[in-house]
Amino acid sequence: MKLMPLMEKLLPICRSITGDGLKKSLGILSEGTGLKTIEYPSGQECFEWTVPEEWNIRDAYIIDSRGNKIVDFQKCGLHVVNYSMPFKGKLSFQELKPHLYSLPEKPNAIPYRTSYYNRVWGFCISHEQYLKMEENPAEKYDVCIDSDIKNGAMPIAEWLIPGETDQEILLSTNVCHPCMANDNLSNAVVATAVAKEIAKWPKRKYSYRLLVLPATVGCIAYIHNNPGWVEKIYGGYVLSCLGDPGNFTYKKTYQGNHEIDKVMLSALKTGDAGYEIREFSPIGGDESQYNSPGFRLPIGSLMRTPFMEYPEYHTSLDNLDLVTEEALQGSVKTYLRAIRNLELNATYKVTFKGDPKLNKYNLYVGPHEDYNRFVGTNYFFSMSDGQNSLLDISEKCNVDIEILNDLAEKALQNGMVTRT
Ligand code: ZN
Repeated sequence: MKLMPLMEKLLPICRSITGDGLKKSLGILSEGTGLKTIEYPSGQECFEWTVPEEWNIRDAYIIDSRGNKIVDFQKCGLHVVNYSMPFKGKLSFQELKPHLYSLPEKPNAIPYRTSYYNRVWGFCISHEQYLKMEENPAEKYDVCIDSDIKNGAMPIAEWLIPGETDQEILLSTNVCHPCMANDNLSNAVVATAVAKEIAKWPKRKYSYRLLVLPATVGCIAYIHNNPGWVEKIYGGYVLSCLGDPGNFTYKKTYQGNHEIDKVMLSALKTGDAGYEIREFSPIGGDESQYNSPGFRLPIGSLMRTPFMEYPEYHTSLDNLDLVTEEALQGSVKTYLRAIRNLELNATYKVTFKGDPKLNKYNLYVGPHEDYNRFVGTNYFFSMSDGQNSLLDISEKCNVDIEILNDLAEKALQNGMVTRT
């Protein structure tokens, strides 16, 4: 299924960590999935954090004395500092200036600014626009921000896809940025696509939980409102910035050598895209919550070009030109390959001594017949001592885990191995 149409539909919506734009986006992402929206009330105390008041915005503009709307929120939701208080007045340039944000180093870009916890108002404009306004210091402007901040709720969306055990693999992502494509719309679109594929599988060893959250406080509030849940988590991933055609970057879990890391490394190794591996760092998204000392959940993060490391980051230039269908699909594929590795990975122990007589079991394959299977068969029976997993064997012999798994199932059926 093509993902760009969903990106196009969601891009113009002015989202935040609360409010109608976020609710609408979660509704759109939920279509054709099992995602359900839950709301947490403003003011709820969650560990160190408090669920914020709800912000909604209907309109905002700056009109010059000739009646020209020189800044129009309806054209781009980035024009208003996210969580701006309401404001209406006639202001000179000097009065307006402290409320204007622009980027001199990127003169055609509208910056993205938030003020979730300090009550201010402001406009984000291109620096080209700013310079035009500066040329006319005597100009008076009609300024309006039609917004409100009041007690309400913070929505999040979740989807539990049950498996054979209630041990869970978490797929967690954010969707709280307005009007930008790669950060963090691409990851929400990829995450729902991954979950939809997993839901189609006839059987799953693990249960899977997709969380689509406003950043930080959403994740904290979810954990707080689901006591005991973190004990069910085996591991998982935070999906972030997955739509640009850059190479992959995988940020490991705090543990650094968990099965969650190994299955992703194997997926990257056998994939066709370039990649880089990084150790865990607390600079990032919700993976820093999950991996924090209070939880220490093994949650890694596969990204393409990481946030902050591409020039369009947090500006209006992070638009649909930056994202490609191919990159989105490649991200879905890589996540699914890692998860497939996780599903298939198991450890076996041979029941015989010495080399097996393979043709007795109808398992003999010669090197000229199928080289990969020949190598895989030899490694599988040689390394299956109850210690090495299929993933370890795959790593050693460079044979895909699917071939090893097929072999393991046959060997299990004819009693050559036991599963440990
Ligand atoms: Zn961001």
